[in-house]
Amino acid sequence: MRMEEADIVVVGAGLAGLSAARDLVTAGQQVVLVEARDRVGGRTWSAPFEAAGCVVDLGAEWVDPHCHLAIMRELERYGIGLEAPEVVAKAELFSHVAASDSWQSLLRECDRIADALDVSRPDWYSQSETYDIPASLFLARQSLEPDVLDEFLAHGFALQGADPDGYSMLNLLHEFASFGGTELAFSSADYRIGGGAQSLAIAIAGVLSAVLRLNWPVSRIAHCAEGVVVEGSAGCIRARQVIIALPVNVLRHMQLDIELPAEASRVIAQGHVGRAAKGWGAASVSELVESSGWPHAVEVYSRRGCDADALCTFAVASPDHDEALRQSWLSVEQRHPEVALSDARLSHDWVTDPYSRGSWLSSAPGQMRGLHQLADMPAPCFFTGGDLSRGWYGWMEGAVTSGRDVAARMLACGDGGAGRSATA
Ligand SMILES: Cc1cc2nc3c(=O)[nH]c(=O)nc-3n(C[C@H](O)[C@H](O)[C@H](O)COP(=O)(O)OP(=O)(O)OC[C@H]3O[C@@H](n4cnc5c(N)ncnc54)[C@H](O)[C@@H]3O)c2cc1C
Repeated sequence: MRMEEADIVVVGAGLAGLSAARDLVTAGQQVVLVEARDRVGGRTWSAPFEAAGCVVDLGAEWVDPHCHLAIMRELERYGIGLEAPEVVAKAELFSHVAASDSWQSLLRECDRIADALDVSRPDWYSQSETYDIPASLFLARQSLEPDVLDEFLAHGFALQGADPDGYSMLNLLHEFASFGGTELAFSSADYRIGGGAQSLAIAIAGVLSAVLRLNWPVSRIAHCAEGVVVEGSAGCIRARQVIIALPVNVLRHMQLDIELPAEASRVIAQGHVGRAAKGWGAASVSELVESSGWPHAVEVYSRRGCDADALCTFAVASPDHDEALRQSWLSVEQRHPEVALSDARLSHDWVTDPYSRGSWLSSAPGQMRGLHQLADMPAPCFFTGGDLSRGWYGWMEGAVTSGRDVAARMLACGDGGAGRSATA
């Protein structure tokens, strides 16, 4: 296979890779952006749901305009608006447990711990290792009433997208700290991106058509004397530097001939535990629907279509995505007898998808240090992505900020980043 030469290769055209590539190209760098799929956007994917006559987000959907400031700047830059929120009042969301002492004291305890986290510190996680335990273990120690526990698990899932036996309580506490408290974390992020979340990725890609190569899956990335070699079935590129903007769970399925710190290698070998299944069903809905439950139909919400309405439900995708959603739809029928559901369904299995192998980042206990080590890797192999961001782990906000940060680090080196990174 002929070896091509490039200055910088960006691998992965999700929001992180696109943001990084756009900033580098704008700064006059010579970039090639390779993407395995035949589309950009990665875990943002907005698809027509014919049965409801609307576009639905199969992946990322929600933003919080008060917190997700990098996303807001990007939307403004490309003239993309937000769709007005369609949510029931916050009071209704927690109505059946809100008055209970057990719920109130649990939230107070979480807020107390989250308040003490200094998430602006690069090593914030090392101050609070006590809470770096499975969320289920933390909750078992709180002696909760069963309905309070279920309510918390459902809202926790909306943030972590994982089984509470698997994800770290510390990751959830970080979310509480980021949103400014438990209640805000459980009820914020309720705006949609106009036209669907993928429209932002498509807009950024609009300025990258000359450097973007779709259907270019990478199977090996290796150090070489000149920098790096990026190989795949579509070709082979030798570059001075590479930005690896891939989901963490994809990395262990590639050949990475790169020297990595021990903790980072361990996280790659384990993968994160995000396992959310998200499904859409066409329905006839007379009033706005929003509810939560545990363990099935963890989140349920409706949106207006034009031919019918659409109902969205979430479940823990382990062990089987389709079975988890089937159970969830049965629960939706029981919980919402007022809704007439049709058989038309749409979903995507992100866990078995070879280019994501999980939903959004949810770290298992002990993974934060390794994730940060990856994000700090110096030239010539930089890692970025929503899974590796400094804040807003697992959100589109994290993807854009980490993509932009890595481009800024490369540019700050003056030579497009051939030197060591400032944060390494
Ligand atoms: C079901 C679901 C719901 C979500 N909901 C929300 C939400 O409401 N709000 C929110 O902010 N976030 C949400 N997220 C998370 C959000 O989608 C991600 O955090 C963000 O999009 C990650 O962007 P990224 O660029 O880091 O990774 P990705 O979007 O995964 O991009 C990585 C890219 O790399 C490509 N790739 C993979 N392997 C290879 C390879 N071998 N060679 C070349 N290219 C490769 C992929 O195809 C992809 O395009 C959700 C995610 C999911 C799955």
